Amino acid sequence: MNLFSKLRRRDSDYRPKGDNRFYLELDGKKLPVVPQFDDQCVDLDVDEDRFVDNEEFRYLTQNMPFRVDSERFIREHKHAWTHTPLPELALYPNYEQVGAQLDEMVRKYPGKCEKISLGSSHQGREIWALRLGEHRLGEKPGIVITGGTHAREWPSIAIPLDLSEKLLQDGSRLRDSEIWIVPLVNPDGYEISRSGDNTYRKNGNPEGPVDLNRNFADDCPEHVHLWRPAGDKPGIKYDDKGASDDPKSRQFRGTHPASEPETKALLKLQLEHKNILGVIDNHNCGEMLLYPAGGEAGYYQALGQAMNEAAGGEPYRVMSAPELYPVSGISNDVQQANGIVGMTLESGFSMQPPEAELARLKDRAGRAHLAFIDKIIQDKDNLTRT
Ligand SMILES: [Zn+2]
Repeated sequence: MNLFSKLRRRDSDYRPKGDNRFYLELDGKKLPVVPQFDDQCVDLDVDEDRFVDNEEFRYLTQNMPFRVDSERFIREHKHAWTHTPLPELALYPNYEQVGAQLDEMVRKYPGKCEKISLGSSHQGREIWALRLGEHRLGEKPGIVITGGTHAREWPSIAIPLDLSEKLLQDGSRLRDSEIWIVPLVNPDGYEISRSGDNTYRKNGNPEGPVDLNRNFADDCPEHVHLWRPAGDKPGIKYDDKGASDDPKSRQFRGTHPASEPETKALLKLQLEHKNILGVIDNHNCGEMLLYPAGGEAGYYQALGQAMNEAAGGEPYRVMSAPELYPVSGISNDVQQANGIVGMTLESGFSMQPPEAELARLKDRAGRAHLAFIDKIIQDKDNLTRT
């Protein structure tokens, strides 16, 4: 079937009456797909028998710009499309449990950390930070570690939580730095991704969910292109560059720069605290270290190499974000524009890996984070905040 007839078919009212659902196979059972994924099924169901078989599912992971574990990635999508809970759900703490884990660290390591709310989400959940350090606010070079910006990227929440425990247990870096761990930037989206659609990416804005990592911008007029690149006109989706003006898009940039409370909370932390010199934003997946377009390649490549040496094993691919695909409104670009070293760590090969793989990711990413923190402490006198 050619593309034209497929497009035409989608436009027309071709769906049969009666049972017009799509089906797929999961753990030996034939399950109906929930209607919100019909469009994706239309794309994949090449033989038009309304059953997306494994051969057809393969198209899902083709032409991806980064490496994924196809089998696992497809399995996660099958759970989402049938709203069947993932068995791995219990491995990953929910919003309440993330807060409780932070409380537990405050109790266990008195005087070494405090739990602070950076603000609240659209649906009224707190965006919690754990501030680690032995000194007064702002006295030492600051490093921010974030996770859970994209709802479905579950290890990106587990990794910073695990890192907090490692930093507190060891204690040595807390004498020379102030570390802010923000494990769950997007609590509303995360809870949505845990309750049916585990491929959910955006936030919980009731007026129209936004891709938080396409919404970042500061209020400096010279930086306005970071959110909407030149030549990308408001409200028109056909000229979209690096993010979308279409509210239905997974990369919807929002109605205006930093429109979302979650984005605002992060910007306030990073831009108002002038001791903050470095940020790692955790995402999944692809095993990559991405640095901002405006960053000095030599510096970031050396930083990436130090992180790779510490992580061990097969190295993360180190490259600038636009080498992977065009992006705008991402946190790293705003950090770079304000003299903060910003990196994105894309861990793993799927969005909700099982236990053994999660343990491997925590271990590797943990060591890479420690190398990043050490490098920022070492470079503190050469880094200039604006
Ligand atoms: Zn992401």
